[in-house]
Formats: sequence, C-alpha cells, structure tokens
Amino acid sequence: IISKLPAVGTTIFSQMSQLAAQQQAINLSQGFPDFPADSSLLARLAAHSQAGLNQYAPMPGVVALREQIAALTSHCYQREVSAETEITVTSGATEALFVAIQMLVQQGDEVLLFDPAYDSYSPAIQLAGGVPVHLRLEAPSYQVDWQQVAAAITPRTRLIIVNSPHNPTGMVFNRADWQALEQLVCQHGLYCISDEVYEHMVFDAKPQLSAHGFAALAERTVVVSSFGKTFHVTGWKLGYAIAPAALTAEFRKIHQYVTFASFTPAQYAIADMLAAHPEQVAGLGVFYQQKRDFFAKQLAASRFRLLPCQGTYFQLVDYRAIAPELTDVEFCQWLTVQHKVAAIPLSVFYQQGSEARIIRLCFAKQQQTLAAAAELLCQL
Ligand code: PMP
Ligand code: GLN
Repeated sequence: IISKLPAVGTTIFSQMSQLAAQQQAINLSQGFPDFPADSSLLARLAAHSQAGLNQYAPMPGVVALREQIAALTSHCYQREVSAETEITVTSGATEALFVAIQMLVQQGDEVLLFDPAYDSYSPAIQLAGGVPVHLRLEAPSYQVDWQQVAAAITPRTRLIIVNSPHNPTGMVFNRADWQALEQLVCQHGLYCISDEVYEHMVFDAKPQLSAHGFAALAERTVVVSSFGKTFHVTGWKLGYAIAPAALTAEFRKIHQYVTFASFTPAQYAIADMLAAHPEQVAGLGVFYQQKRDFFAKQLAASRFRLLPCQGTYFQLVDYRAIAPELTDVEFCQWLTVQHKVAAIPLSVFYQQGSEARIIRLCFAKQQQTLAAAAELLCQL
C-alpha cells in the first residue's frame, strides 16, 4: 500500500491514554471528563431510544436539535442562523473539521494554521491535496502575530484555521484578534474554519467571542463546535458546523457520504437539554474555572511553573526546574511510568518540533482526581 499519510503515526491521545492504562497512572493526558454527565441527559438518551428513535436521523441532523443550536447561537453571539440551511449536525467536531477541509481545499491550496495545532487538521488538509503552512505560537502567551500571518499569505492561500479557546495552550482570542482575522480573510478572499469546541469554557470574565460575532468574517467561515465538550460526553461524538447556506450546501454533499447522519437518540437528548437546562451551558465557564483554580492551588507547592490558562480544560506547565535534560516526550513517558501521572507533550503539535519544556495536563476531572495527581506531581 502506498500511504497517503506517510509521516503520520498513531495520534498522541491514543498513545498516552494507552500508556496511562498500562501503567495504572492517573490520566491527565487525553482530554475528557472523569465525572458523569448530568443524569437527566442520560435519562433522556434512554427514553428516546426506548421510545423507538433508533433509526437514521435526517442527514443534516434532527430538526429539534438544529433549532436549539440556532437559539444558542442567537443567545450567545446575537447571530441569527437558519436551522434549515446553515446548521449541520456531525459525528463530533472531528467530522465537521474533516468535511469542512475537504470542501474548502483544492489541490495545491495553502492552508494557514497555528502550531501547536490540534492534530487532525494537517492530515485532513493533506488528504484534500492541500499544503499546510504552519505558523508558530510561542510560550507563554501563545498570541498570534497578525503581521506574520499577513506576510505568510500568498496567491495560493485559500483557508485559515483558527481555534479559540485554543487547545493545547488555553489561549483565548480577544476582540483585536478577531478583527485582524476578519480583515485578512476579507481582504484576501480567504475562507476560515473556526474551531470553537471550547467556546463555553472561558475564564476570569474574559468575553466569550466567536467568529459568529463578526459579520463579514462569518460570511466566509465554517464555525465548528462539539457537544462532547459542552455536556461532558466526549464518547457520544456529536458536533456541528454552522456556515452560510451556500457553504452548508457543499458541506452536506460531503457529510452525506462520510457518515450520512449521527447517532439519533443523542441528538434528541441534547435538544431536550438545551431547551430545558440552558443554564448548564451558561455555567460551564465557572464550573471549569473552579477546577482550574483548585488544581493550580494544589500545584502551587510543586516545582512546575504554571502558564496562563484563559480557557479550555487544559493547563500547561513548564518542568524545566525538574528535568531540563528530558525532552517533553521523554518527560511524559517518565512521568507516566515512574510517577503515575499521564500528560501530553506539547512538541508533537509543532510541525518543526519544539525545545520548550512544557506539557499539557487536563483538569476536566473530579476534585479527588486532581488532588491525587497534584500530590504525585508535588513530589517531583
Ligand atoms: N478540535 C479541538 C481543538 C479539540 O480539542 C477536539 C477534541 N479534543 C476536537 C476538535 C474534536 O472534537 P470531537 O471529540 O467532538 O470530535
Ligand atoms: N481533543 C482531545 C484532546 O485534546 C482528544 C481527542 C481525541 O482523542 N481524538 O485531548
């Protein structure tokens, strides 16, 4: 077989979760909650399934869910989108990203993305025949240098992929970032994919901004989000894409032949939750900020240096004071095997690698898990 992705191995998330299980380590690597989802969500899933809603959902998604997504978008960002023509439910944000990239990228097109970049973007670009162009964000702020972005735009540039709140760094775009992005996208006739899966996890009263809030940008953007993050059910693989009708029509042409539709009872269950408990979404920022702060307090006595975290459920820590001679991949291996805490190295999200001594810890965990992990980390 001639590999279509010769440089790609198994994703770091599978690698580290497998090692964590083998080593019986506390798993702060792959991002997922270790606490249960709301019991009423689970009850609704069972009820819809028992009521017989187990056959194919409509290809663009269950109508009730798309209507709730439209209402949520209006509530959070004051943007009115059509449930009928602008919203498509997908099997996780991963599918939405893949489909959006296949739709927008033609052979030879250049796609701008920011390292450390979520690891599904680049393979999807390559499969579409595109050329990923990696720009680097650096510690500790990981802010985008928009002049550098402008300088990287060529006649072949077609698409820019942004992710705010940003995995793995926890950086969140401010208004000036969105404005600079909008200006470049419009000026150069680019398209944008805005990966906003952590949209409701923004801390310290920083405004929750979105591509939805910038009208000219939104006209050329596919906004992607995920209920896995918002409702603590990453295993349900339910996400969505919002884009103007002309883009959505093309998006659905691909989506219908990738998965056709997503898990039916979960779509009804989440539609119910959005209607009955909108406070769940609204409270997510405070919920995770408390976890961030609890974990930070527990780590205060350690030799790790915590980097700023404005959003997401990830905390970056610098381990230079503990083992500067180890690369971050070596350090994560050692930490998991010898000290029973699994983490994610940052360098794997940089195309050119990184010499930084920084790892990512997921704090979407019960207090007791965070306390137990911090106790181990404080011994180093
Ligand atoms: N984008 C980012 C930045 C993510 O962190 C994740 C999940 N870890 C995804 C996309 C994929 O989301 P889903 O699990 O809904 O496919
Ligand atoms: N997005 C999750 C993370 O960053 C992992 C998703 C996956 O395992 N594919 O940890």
